[in-house]
Amino acid sequence: MSVELSNEEITRYSRHLILPEVGMAGQKKLKATSVLCIGTGGLGSPILMYLAAAGIGKIGIVDFDVVDFSNLQRQIAHGTADVGRPKVESGKETINSINPEVEVVVHETRLSADNVMEIMAPYDIVVDGTDNFPTRYLTNDACVLLKKPNVYGSIFRFEGQASVFAPELGGPCYRCLYPEPPPPGMVPSCAEGGVLGVLPGIVGCIQATEILKLALGKGSPLVNRLLLFNALDMKFRELKLRRDPKCPICGDNPTITELIDYEEFCGIGLEPDDPQQHPDEVTVQQMKEALAGNDIAVIDVREHDEAEIAKIDGVPMIPLSELPQRFTELDPNQTIYLHCKMGARSLKAVDFLKQQGFKYCKSVAGGINAWAEEIDPSVPRY
Ligand code: ZN
Repeated sequence: MSVELSNEEITRYSRHLILPEVGMAGQKKLKATSVLCIGTGGLGSPILMYLAAAGIGKIGIVDFDVVDFSNLQRQIAHGTADVGRPKVESGKETINSINPEVEVVVHETRLSADNVMEIMAPYDIVVDGTDNFPTRYLTNDACVLLKKPNVYGSIFRFEGQASVFAPELGGPCYRCLYPEPPPPGMVPSCAEGGVLGVLPGIVGCIQATEILKLALGKGSPLVNRLLLFNALDMKFRELKLRRDPKCPICGDNPTITELIDYEEFCGIGLEPDDPQQHPDEVTVQQMKEALAGNDIAVIDVREHDEAEIAKIDGVPMIPLSELPQRFTELDPNQTIYLHCKMGARSLKAVDFLKQQGFKYCKSVAGGINAWAEEIDPSVPRY
C-alpha cells in the first residue's frame, strides 16, 4: 500500500492510531479505502460526516435531490443556508470542511440500471442510504453482481434496521431477506409516516461503524445478522440471517444475471413528476374548481392530528382509518374528490370506495402539499 500519512494527519487521527485495532497500518487502510454512499439524506448525512472524520480516503456521493426545509430536522450534513442547493454540493462541502484530505466524487444523478455499474465499479464498499424500494433493490443487485459489500440501513418512524449484505463474504443479500418488494403504497415513506430526527443518526452511525470495520478487517461485521432498533423502547434486537440458496441473484442457480427494470419490479409505473396523469387522479387546480362549485364533494382523508398542522378551509375530514365505518356518510352517486398529504392515502381511499360501489371518486394528486405549493401558499407544507 503506497499511502502515507502527513504529520498533520498523524495528529488528526491520533485517537485512532493509539488503538491497537487501528494503528498506523489500519489508518492507512482507511485512507486507501473508497466508499460510495447512495443518498445524502438522513442516513447519508451521519455516514458521510463520520467517514470523513475517520479518514476514509475517497467518498463518492450519489443524489439528484436538492435540500428542502423539511430535510433539516434530520439531514445534518445540510444547513438552513443550503435549502434549494443540490444535496451532493452541500454534502461535499460538509465532508471537506470536516476533513479536506478526503477526495469527494460527486454523482449528481438518479441512480439507475443504466448508470449504476459504471458509478459503483471504482469503489470498495457501497452504503445504502436510500429511502425507496426500487433504488434499494437496484443497489443490492449491482453490489451482488460487482461483488461489493452493501452496508444496509433503513428507518421508519421510531424503528431502524441495519445489516451488511455480502454474499462474497458468505452472507445473504437484501433479496434473500426480502425476495419481493411490498405492494406499492403498502409501506408508507418517511414523508408519509414520519421519522424521529435522530433515528437516521443512530442507524447511519451503525452503518459507518460497519464500513470502518470492513475497511480495517477487524471485529465481527453484521454479515448474516439483521440488527433491529426501536428508539421508543430503546431496544436493540438481532435476527440471524442465512443466504437463501434459491435467491434469484446470489443463490446457487441465479436467474438474475443482469440488472432489471426496478420501477416495474416494485410496481411503480409513474414517476411523481411524470406529466401523464393517473386515471384515478385529479389536480389541485381541479380541486380548487370543485370547491368553488356545489356539484363535487371534497373530503380530507388524513388523520385528525394532521388538521392541526395544515388544512384547507371548508373541507370536511373522514380519515382513511375511519372510512370503513363512515363511508355511508357519503353519496355513492356524487362525484367525490379525496385529498391527503401527498396523494398516496387518497388513492387507497379511492380504491376502497370503488369496492363499495362508488363510481365517481378521484384522488387529488400531490395532496395538500401540492395545494400549498400551487394554489395557496398560506397553507404550510409538511
Ligand atoms: Zn440473495
